[in-house]
Amino acid sequence: MHALVFIKQVPDASQVRVNYETGTLIREGVPAILNPFEAHAVEEAVKLREKFGGKVSVITMGPPQATQALKECLAMGADKAFLLSDRAFAGSDTLATSYALYEGARKIIELEGEVDLYFAGKQAIDGDTAQTGPGIATRFDIPLVTYLTKMDEVNFEKKYAVATRLTELGHETVQVPIPAFFTVEESLNELSHAPLPWLIKAAQTEIIMLSSENVELDRNQCGLKHSPTMVKKAFTPEKRQRGETLTGSLDELIKETAGHLASFVK
Ligand SMILES: Cc1cc2nc3c(=O)[nH]c(=O)nc-3n(C[C@H](O)[C@H](O)[C@H](O)COP(=O)(O)OP(=O)(O)OC[C@H]3O[C@@H](n4cnc5c(N)ncnc54)[C@H](O)[C@@H]3O)c2cc1C
Repeated sequence: MHALVFIKQVPDASQVRVNYETGTLIREGVPAILNPFEAHAVEEAVKLREKFGGKVSVITMGPPQATQALKECLAMGADKAFLLSDRAFAGSDTLATSYALYEGARKIIELEGEVDLYFAGKQAIDGDTAQTGPGIATRFDIPLVTYLTKMDEVNFEKKYAVATRLTELGHETVQVPIPAFFTVEESLNELSHAPLPWLIKAAQTEIIMLSSENVELDRNQCGLKHSPTMVKKAFTPEKRQRGETLTGSLDELIKETAGHLASFVK
């Protein structure tokens, strides 16, 4: 089995503040963390590797400091880590990001062999678009299962997976041929503590660097210049007013509530 997990380093959202004058995020001094959904994606891939054998690769597109997030994934049990980093990617929107990651993944296939299972988080806690995973899956033209909550079965001989996903109406279990792409929910699994040998191995594992030097990329699909998304305006939505608290006997409360509801209908 070969699983490839797309991971992103993000600013710790709990510590990001907003500059209300400029409407921009204050990122200075905010620590960077592994996007929380990817920890669960790596956990699941490693669990499958422990059951079936094979290897787990992880890739991120980002600046050199993103190696920290890759190291974290190695410490969780991933075998290979790739950093796709190049000035040509600066300012990429989700279209350009998913293109660069697709080409990075193709390079990993060339180096490490075919991938059976692709994983990403359901969304990044900074960009929040949830578009990157689907964008990569579309380029590979493989089945996409979003909001994965349970990997019920993987059959590598018959080349299929049975997976449960969250929908607006509840849960849905689907069977897909593999290779397939999964974007994962945090409820997929519980994170476990890595055994000491994995931590030692992680510290000794080199991050493999990928760039436009060794990945075949169409520069006309990368970076700000080739990102069709334009940010027209950034603003903080007004805070909602707190609701009014009603007091009194049950009869009085019913009357008052009915009066409020009636005023909406008028
Ligand atoms: C015009 C424009 C310019 C931008 N310029 C920059 C910029 O200069 N620098 C910058 O950092 N961002 C920039 N961004 C933001 C950047 O496009 C997004 O952060 C990126 O495309 C991922 O989208 P997202 O954060 O919504 O992730 P989502 O689509 O919500 O992420 C879903 C999942 O995809 C995977 N994933 C997402 N991003 C990566 C990644 N980089 N590597 C590996 N896996 C990933 C993860 O598994 C993640 O959980 C820009 C956006 C726009 C619109």
